Amino acid sequence: MFSYEDYREILRVIKESGRYCTYEEARNKSEFIIMRHDVEYSVDRAYALSKVEESMDMRSTFFFQWTNNSYNILSRKNRDILTDMHERGQNIGLHFALNGMTDMNLIRERINQEMDMLSDMLGFEINSFSIHRPSPHVLEENIKLPGILNAYQDDFFTFDPKATPESDLEVKYMSDANHIWRYGYPDEETIEKYDKIQILTHPFAWTKKGYDNLDNYKTLVNEKYIEMIDSIDNECKDFGPLRDNFEKLPIDI
Ligand SMILES: [Zn+2]
Repeated sequence: MFSYEDYREILRVIKESGRYCTYEEARNKSEFIIMRHDVEYSVDRAYALSKVEESMDMRSTFFFQWTNNSYNILSRKNRDILTDMHERGQNIGLHFALNGMTDMNLIRERINQEMDMLSDMLGFEINSFSIHRPSPHVLEENIKLPGILNAYQDDFFTFDPKATPESDLEVKYMSDANHIWRYGYPDEETIEKYDKIQILTHPFAWTKKGYDNLDNYKTLVNEKYIEMIDSIDNECKDFGPLRDNFEKLPIDI
């Protein structure tokens, strides 16, 4: 269910709907399908998924975290990746983590701050954000900032604290969170039922082969293991002769 082939099929369906567009475009439309990605754990997997989209001549919006503990978007390697994605026409946004903040003024201030810093560091303008694990309180707040698009603002997302996955909301939301399409799977039949749709996928969940939840995490951890070894190897010239000791992947699939 989480292979690139499956992802291409989702793309094919939304492309053929004729309603596929960006956040910017969706604001003035009565019918739309937006594809968004919140990037957790792995910039490499986001990059790979962006290439799958481009193979079908499609682009979407990738939201990257600034304060997470598993990747650094300012590393030379990741900055090059983000710049390349931007130059290829992908939209890059901020995946904002609340990190325990609840004060709405502070949250607004921090979003502005992080977006400014990110634009500055990357050298191109970041003008959209999504919130990582948003609290009901922050969804209810419907944050709108001048010149900035919030993936959860009411144009793109309908907040109803009483809603169930089956509720008929103005904007249909579908997400692959936890490897479960809790609000429905974006196939032809489902997307035909709704005028406005926002789809969220997490690139770390998608691979060429496609795994269940457990094996996906196993392959992700193996990739991170290799990334760490490469990082040491690149930094430390004494590591070369020792590298052989680390060649076996830690987790069998
Ligand atoms: Zn997130």
